[in-house]
Amino acid sequence: MNSISKGQPTLSNIAFVDAQNLHLGTTKCRNCSEKRAIDFKDIKLSDCVCGSAWEVDLAKFRVYLKEKYHVAEAYYVLGYVQDKNDELYKDIQKAGFIIFV
Ligand SMILES: [Zn+2]
Repeated sequence: MNSISKGQPTLSNIAFVDAQNLHLGTTKCRNCSEKRAIDFKDIKLSDCVCGSAWEVDLAKFRVYLKEKYHVAEAYYVLGYVQDKNDELYKDIQKAGFIIFV
């Protein structure tokens, strides 16, 4: 529902973040993979020397989604869950995302 008032916009959007895409699209550098002859699937964030690879700060990303896109609910879509008590999942939830498998 759209709000006509110019004040605080209502948070009405829902975001689905594909974890795999987010991870591959930010932490892996194709440029350094080719230049350093490291297989793309094996290249790590620390292997990037050109500065293109980076790690998303999920807490800041969540704030960005809220402020820029008025996202009320943000789902972090994982292909699978290995261990529900994993620190990673706690961090994702702490950042304000809802884990969606
Ligand atoms: Zn790089």
